[in-house]
Amino acid sequence: MKVTSADIVISAVKPEQYPETHLPEFALAGRSNVGKSSFINKLLNRKNLARTSSKPGKTQTLNFYLINEVLHFVDVPGYGYAKVSKREREIWGKMIETYLTSREQLKAVILIVDLRHPPSKDDVTMYGFVKHYEIPVIVVATKADKIPKGKWDKHLKVVRETLDFDPSDQLVLFSSETGLGKEKAWSVIQSYM
Ligand code: GDP
Repeated sequence: MKVTSADIVISAVKPEQYPETHLPEFALAGRSNVGKSSFINKLLNRKNLARTSSKPGKTQTLNFYLINEVLHFVDVPGYGYAKVSKREREIWGKMIETYLTSREQLKAVILIVDLRHPPSKDDVTMYGFVKHYEIPVIVVATKADKIPKGKWDKHLKVVRETLDFDPSDQLVLFSSETGLGKEKAWSVIQSYM
């Protein structure tokens, strides 16, 4: 998809603040520092539209981006930050749960994982959580440029096995550094619109 416009429309913490349109929506989730902002920026051809907003102490919001006036990306705060308090974690969990269970126009969750390592416990929990609500998941295995090409398949296999990956979901090999997987990611997203 050729992105001609991409703007943040709102940072929401509760349903009353979600945009009132019925455009297809894709939520982006991943542990802090996995490369989620870089993925968003790469897909939107922006250097710094999405920023790492997952540092503890910062307001945890769902950031809605309107793209080409036809779809929304919803950037979900990163998880797995060791220093986050139990209370903060609860608020985060509630916010995500409310969003996932109430948002009819949500077409799929894009779960970003790091190709270099087996998905973390939190990644596995997140994948299972989304599957529990029967929402399609697009798993993006990023930082592929950090792994030799000959080992990609082996690492993708570990990602599938660790997540207990549902074959009806899509898995996209990606690199924000080289742009690998960008076209594939967009075509998968468009297949859910
Ligand atoms: P976020 O916290 O998930 O939003 O992560 P960021 O997008 O801020 O990325 C965290 C770090 O990983 C930054 O230093 C990025 O430059 C780096 N990074 C992200 N994606 C890639 C990638 O595909 N390849 C490489 N080599 N580095 C990446």
